[in-house]
Amino acid sequence: MNLDDSQPRKHSRTCWTRRRIFFLSRSIICAVVAVSIGTLFLRPGNFLEYIIDTLLRTYLMFIGTVMAHEGVHGHLGRSRTANFRWGRLALLPTMVPFTNFRKTHHMHHAYTNIPGQDPDHFMKSRSLIELVLRALAMPHQWFFWLWQRGRIKKADLIELALNYFVIFAVYGAILASVGPFRLFWGMTPALILVSVLLWYPFAVQTHEGFSTGAAESRSHNYYGRFMYWFSLGLAIHREHHLQPKLSWIELKEYVEDRPVVSRKLLLMPRRDIRLESPTPGIVAKPPSYSTHVGSRPISNTNTEPGAVATGFFEALRRTPINGEDPVATPTCRGSVFVFAKINGGDPA
Ligand SMILES: [Zn+2]
Repeated sequence: MNLDDSQPRKHSRTCWTRRRIFFLSRSIICAVVAVSIGTLFLRPGNFLEYIIDTLLRTYLMFIGTVMAHEGVHGHLGRSRTANFRWGRLALLPTMVPFTNFRKTHHMHHAYTNIPGQDPDHFMKSRSLIELVLRALAMPHQWFFWLWQRGRIKKADLIELALNYFVIFAVYGAILASVGPFRLFWGMTPALILVSVLLWYPFAVQTHEGFSTGAAESRSHNYYGRFMYWFSLGLAIHREHHLQPKLSWIELKEYVEDRPVVSRKLLLMPRRDIRLESPTPGIVAKPPSYSTHVGSRPISNTNTEPGAVATGFFEALRRTPINGEDPVATPTCRGSVFVFAKINGGDPA
């Protein structure tokens, strides 16, 4: 028996001190702002260069929003002021004020998927075109959403006005330097693309089904390291909702390998959507066999039937096995489990 496989794995969080996390995320913000705004001063010479310019700025804008999200959760500095300052800077490439985002996002966490209480529920759409329009309107409708609910105070209005003033001042200076043609075509397509990139795969799909049941069923993680690194942690969305105090780099420990699938689905980003139990408030069901710890699958051969090292089962996941239809397999609540063949099931 491999002793290593039988022991609960410890997360290697210790090397990521708060100081290191702040430095890493702030460095990313500086790079994002410098390159996304700096490249506006370059003029693409042909259509291919223009496409590259747009896609690059779209991705940098996206990473800026991911880092602003870190600021909402206090991962950009020790103080509220530091988080607000770096959060505002991170959103500068998208011209979105941080004020609305930080206020609505806490409500999104508190009331995930509840209509009328979760501001991000606005993204629930009936068609693709509706989804695109909602994604474009999203950051600006936050203000009206908050206003209608009496959640905008005088101090927020002042902060918002100053935030918009800085945004207009920066882009006004760029406009004066590069001209309206370059600014419009440098920004508009990228703003449209980033709205869809952010809100469809990382808001609609990470909350697909808009469950209002147990916390584990309200949001979903993407499998695999590619989605983790592409989104700098935003793909590990369930875990983020369960443990918002973990920064994006600390969520790396929760990346899971994709289950075996048919070749057709090999390049498709996939999520571990957990099923709701018919019993209200419970997502649990006795498991048949084990799943993954962190990014490594648990061996099903080294534990006696019935053995459960830590924790308890409380969630189900649709995991296709050998390309077959999804079946319910157990998974754990955001931590380390070691178990196998609980009910004598076959290895997954
Ligand atoms: Zn969050």
